[in-house]
Amino acid sequence: MRGLPPGVKVTPMLSQYLEWKEKYPHCILFFRMGDFYEMFFDDARKASEILDITLTARDPDKSIPMAGVPWHSMQPYLARLVRAGCSVAICDQITEPDGRTLVERKVVRIVTPGTYVPEEAGTGGHLAALIPSGEFYALALLSVETGRLEAGLFPPSEALSILGSFAPGELLVPSGFSLPKDFPLAGEFFLLPRPKEFFSPLSGTRLLKQTWKVASLGTFGVRDDSPEAGCAAAALRYLSETQFGAVDHVRRVHPLLSREHLLLDGATAEHLELVDEEGPSLFSCLNRCRNAMGKRMLREWILRPLLHADPLKIRHDSVEFLLAEGDRRRSLRNLLGECRDIQRATSRLSLGTGTPRDMGALRDTLRLLPSLLPLCEGALSPWIKDLPDFSPLGDLLNEALEEDLPRNPASGGIIRRGFDPELDEWRAVETGATDWLEAYLERVRAETGISRLKAGFNKIYGYYLEVSRGALSSVPGDFQRKQTLVNAERFVTPEMKTFEEKMNRAGEEISRREGELYDRLRQEAAFFLEGLQALGESLASLDVLASLAEVARERGYVRPELDDSGDFFVTGGRHPVVEQILTDSPFVPNSYSLEGDGKRIVLLTGPNMAGKSTYLRTAALLILLAQMGSFIPAESARMGLFDRIFTRIGARDDLARGSSTFMVEMVETASILSNLTDRSLVILDEVGRGTSTYDGMSIAWAVLEHLAEGCGCLPKVLFATHFHELTCLEERFPSIVNLSMAVKEEGGEIFFLHQVVRGSADRSYGIEVARLAGLPRPVLKRAFDLLKRFEKEERTGSMARKKRPADEGRQMKLFDSARQGILEELAETDPDGLTPFRALELLYSLREKSREVLRNENIPSS
Ligand code: ADP
Ligand code: MG
Repeated sequence: MRGLPPGVKVTPMLSQYLEWKEKYPHCILFFRMGDFYEMFFDDARKASEILDITLTARDPDKSIPMAGVPWHSMQPYLARLVRAGCSVAICDQITEPDGRTLVERKVVRIVTPGTYVPEEAGTGGHLAALIPSGEFYALALLSVETGRLEAGLFPPSEALSILGSFAPGELLVPSGFSLPKDFPLAGEFFLLPRPKEFFSPLSGTRLLKQTWKVASLGTFGVRDDSPEAGCAAAALRYLSETQFGAVDHVRRVHPLLSREHLLLDGATAEHLELVDEEGPSLFSCLNRCRNAMGKRMLREWILRPLLHADPLKIRHDSVEFLLAEGDRRRSLRNLLGECRDIQRATSRLSLGTGTPRDMGALRDTLRLLPSLLPLCEGALSPWIKDLPDFSPLGDLLNEALEEDLPRNPASGGIIRRGFDPELDEWRAVETGATDWLEAYLERVRAETGISRLKAGFNKIYGYYLEVSRGALSSVPGDFQRKQTLVNAERFVTPEMKTFEEKMNRAGEEISRREGELYDRLRQEAAFFLEGLQALGESLASLDVLASLAEVARERGYVRPELDDSGDFFVTGGRHPVVEQILTDSPFVPNSYSLEGDGKRIVLLTGPNMAGKSTYLRTAALLILLAQMGSFIPAESARMGLFDRIFTRIGARDDLARGSSTFMVEMVETASILSNLTDRSLVILDEVGRGTSTYDGMSIAWAVLEHLAEGCGCLPKVLFATHFHELTCLEERFPSIVNLSMAVKEEGGEIFFLHQVVRGSADRSYGIEVARLAGLPRPVLKRAFDLLKRFEKEERTGSMARKKRPADEGRQMKLFDSARQGILEELAETDPDGLTPFRALELLYSLREKSREVLRNENIPSS
């Protein structure tokens, strides 16, 4: 036995103890002996100290220190050990003692600071996992007590603040990782380093998908193969390691939401074309930024809109102020245009990869402050309030640095003449030497009569004199030949050698001294590091605000009124991007009226190309603009603050990942339905388009019903569909209102007015749209005849069922007998009680049944 004190007699019981202890060396082993959990050796010493219990001995020789706690009241002891950062392995008796043979024992559980859940009230069991990913941190939080697992990706500062308020007992991190020193910590917790593979996004995603039997974590709103999925799996894996088995009470992963930002679900930024690099996007439409910092910040503001009223008020006040004061805005923007990217310059300098030009960028920007800062009065003052006085650094850089600076610190020419006497002295030596060389050349030319004598320098021979071939006969004897060229020869002289030594010396001293001075400047800049970072943020924010004010002026945006009503009222709302690219015709403004707890669901019908999708996206963009601090393209607006925007738009194939359109659609829809809140905006555009008509309609129908009453909260919903049958739901649910796109028919032609009106669309105008698109005449004619027949049959069908209740009448015709069965099956399902996997199974079975029905149907012939 390793490490045993001398003289210890190893009894069978002790050997059993040691065997288990060896398996859990990092834990305190609670060894069950009758009514006590006993601890031995170092464990006993440590525990007696932490728990303040007596340290005794097992044997008469006192070579085996021992301490114990009664098994029936072990909880408070466990709690104290865990709070002190210890992990405890609980080793229980698993056979009944018979007085003769040794009782069998086994470790059944490990209690660690992050997984311990106190039996009494109180919090505990908070486990977290964190890995850096590019510029972000992926973070997973697991509350062992409730089984809630959340994961997300955040900028480091935000990840750390979320972590701080979650206050985990343990934090899993990749080996070698350490937290920033200034980490704002609520309680104490313990780092658990694990190898990188423990957090692998790929195998983590696989594990989670298997555990919960889902095709994609997208079902829960978490990206497959993402670092946050890797973190979530790591936390779960660690928990199951300590619990010795499956962790059944963790049933899914939730997207971890920012406490500060509006959540845009995975596909939303893409669907809404927020920051597309190519082509028109919200970014390109708002970007009047004058410097690189502002452009970066604008992107960030677009992708991370705010959740709280106070910081938004500061942004809106600033835009209003800049909009009202045109002169101030113009002067400010001119100065901002001259600002260099000091954020990058500062980080390069502090990383040690900075160049003299980065230093120059600081100087050039600091020079602007005396004229720039006084412009930031009134509503703009919050943006500059915590900045230090930069004049010591600014003055120093102004005095020290040359106007034009080299990229390479070693190439010289950094420090200005007159700044440092020592440097100037060596430079004078160099200049003096150069003057000497001129004079020397003159002298030798005169002495030798070689009028075209030249001086030069190369790396191998240093300084030399060059004589052309024709003049070689006049070369004096003390010239030492060094190199022969085609037309000339090169020589050195003793005077040249002396000169060279002097030059070398001066050169060395100059670069030494310049290097010293440059280092001193770098230190001085490093001293201002935090201030410079804050200044970078301020200049970036001011640039964005001025840009937003500029756009508001150009395009007539107004300030949205924000409150906590949960309403969304807009008159004359316009799509910010579409209105900029429409050239032929003006954009038709539309209004929105969604009430927090009244009519909060819009069911929008209308023909293709009538403007449904645009109407939906406009709502999302108006909210996003308002919550990033911008004014919005509308006549007026009053709205509550939203916390999530979900979008499910069109039939979008995720070919790269090999999922079918329909699968993608269902995964996105499932994710939306499982993450709703009262303050969510849900945009569902043509849900169910990716599958057969009846499947599609059934799903759309069920989803709409769920949103209207089954989802347990009151999200605002904009639902566009080409299934006119759904419009009957308005009568059944007070929260639903039917709207449609106005169409004008004139002389057999149709015109889209892009105007949203009350009521449902009466027809789909599909064939008219087909004509607009240039489908061949015979095809159009045949389609038209078929339509007439279908409509006729539909009418006779509905006549036969005239007695049905009004809210079902028009729709039920679609569902005679066999169809009725499908409908009933659907009606009986309880979506809340289904796992996403079961839901999908049900969908497939419904689809099979529907196809059967369709197969039995006669297609009319002419
Ligand atoms: P739908 O979803 O009904 O098929 P879209 O929203 O895709 O229709 O709109 C089709 C086209 O109509 C858009 O590309 C846009 O150019 C134009 N459009 C949509 N809404 C408006 C509007 N309010 N004013 C002017 N043109 C519009
Ligand atoms: Mg559309």
